[in-house]
Amino acid sequence: MINNTEADWLHVDVMDGVFVPNISFGPGIIKVMKSHSKLPLDVHLMIEKPEQYIEIFRDAGADHISVHAEACTHLHRTIQQIKATGAKAGVAINPHTPVNVVENLLEDIDIIILMSVNPGFGGQKFIYQTINKIRQLKEMIITANSDALIEIDGGVGLQNAESILQAGADVLVAGNSIFKAENPKLAVYALKNLGIQGYIV
Ligand code: ZN
Repeated sequence: MINNTEADWLHVDVMDGVFVPNISFGPGIIKVMKSHSKLPLDVHLMIEKPEQYIEIFRDAGADHISVHAEACTHLHRTIQQIKATGAKAGVAINPHTPVNVVENLLEDIDIIILMSVNPGFGGQKFIYQTINKIRQLKEMIITANSDALIEIDGGVGLQNAESILQAGADVLVAGNSIFKAENPKLAVYALKNLGIQGYIV
């Protein structure tokens, strides 16, 4: 079904039951997804010690690998490790983490995921403070002359997609607003036609 929508990427949330309270799945499932998906796999590692698993997820088929700033003691090194595999490298930050944690990494990263809910479960409400963080981060990216994309993850749907994009976001992650829709294909179409650059299910 997703292959037949206008979605650009397939966003995959990996949860370990330690960094976040929930457990989702690991590289085995990603390997199967890769064999069916026509879209790039945008893998979001919500796990402790992600540096131990980068190559495993890349081998399983991850095209983009994002790690949490809060889970990495040596974030810059982990980013280099992701890039060495040939995957696009991303950093995700939780709602309480200020955007300046990525300021000195902007030259090196491809994607910054701003969590707009507390990570761990689907179906949560969008935290509106995220809009200010998008504006701050966009300014930082422009100043640094970086090509990094701002990706917003959590509680995104038609009701707020336009304000999120206007604030400067490039990529929207939409879970419930697509999969709980009566017509998921139409839900993707509606979001795409707001003028979204990158778009994820
Ligand atoms: Zn995610």
